[in-house]
Amino acid sequence: MTRLGTGSQLQFRAMQVLVCLCALATHGWCADYGKVTTSKVAEGVYLFTTSPYGDVGFGGNSVAIITDEGVVMFDTSGTPASGQAILSEVRKLADKPVVYVINSHWHWDHWGGNQVFKAAFPNVQFLSHAKNRDLMMNVAVAWNAPGLEKDLPDYLNYEKQQLAMAEAKHTSEAELAKKRELLAADESFLQQKRSVTYTFPNATFSESATLYLGGREIRVLHARAITPGDTYVYLPKEKILITGDILVNPIPFAVGGSYPQEWIETLRKLNQFEIDAIIPGHGEAEHDRSYLERNLTLFQRVLTDVKAAKANGLSLDQTKKELMDKAGAYAADFGLSEKDLPDFKNYFLLVFVNRAYHELEKPLGDNPIS
Ligand SMILES: [Zn+2]
Repeated sequence: MTRLGTGSQLQFRAMQVLVCLCALATHGWCADYGKVTTSKVAEGVYLFTTSPYGDVGFGGNSVAIITDEGVVMFDTSGTPASGQAILSEVRKLADKPVVYVINSHWHWDHWGGNQVFKAAFPNVQFLSHAKNRDLMMNVAVAWNAPGLEKDLPDYLNYEKQQLAMAEAKHTSEAELAKKRELLAADESFLQQKRSVTYTFPNATFSESATLYLGGREIRVLHARAITPGDTYVYLPKEKILITGDILVNPIPFAVGGSYPQEWIETLRKLNQFEIDAIIPGHGEAEHDRSYLERNLTLFQRVLTDVKAAKANGLSLDQTKKELMDKAGAYAADFGLSEKDLPDFKNYFLLVFVNRAYHELEKPLGDNPIS
């Protein structure tokens, strides 16, 4: 192992530091890096998904709620370029300005496109929970710095070395083309990340806020689930729930904070809403509550097992070992296949168990870095 670790270790580290990922649906190579796809969820409600930026970053979902008095955006994806692509789509769908951007949580992959909306609509209001604004301003920037300054550049150098070695070994042209395309996508991602002008909420709420706009009622609500300032939206007339990363499809994601007990309470609360559609923080929209219920069942089961392990006197390491041995069973019952197991373990189970164990000892603070 080199000082920097193996490629996959390095990649994982870079990704973790950047707290992005989540959209783990897309394994393997994808030629359309950072591509935005639009889908209609209901009349005037559109979801924009972004394909992975390369193998170092995933963009969060963005949603447009169109009204006669303007457009309300929920999140802006991870980079200015994807924010711009989403804005272009919104302009095709609506001839009204964007009047609000709601930011779901502080992880960069959900608000990297904010600046694009500010530039296009100088009067736009950026709304989020007060705690989330604080985390965006005081945690997100510091959290991302090591990835931008060291981990990603190191990973790009590693990729360049690998490419040079492959070229020297007379690897097939098709394979070389893939490597070059991936390197170009990763380089462009770093460039995009460095071009972000941090654009923070200028309006906050404490427990809930309601926007009445163009005949729509848009409830903006607070939870403490994946982060302390989680902001999500419910449209009571349309029965649409927009969750941010409280739900991530198809594999739950717990890196970068997470509050297991309150997360479970939040999922129970979400399950009380009347639902025609649920738009998660990553992945496609669901048109029933089955994915929400599967998350709830999984979270409760893991928490129960952590509690039992702790009650039996197991240390944190012993508890992790015991529960990681059951990862295959948890994942299978959740509906995941063998190939999803590494992501399920790294991005959900290991973190959730760790946080749940600590939470049983004392309340978890707001700062994920402390
Ligand atoms: Zn995310």
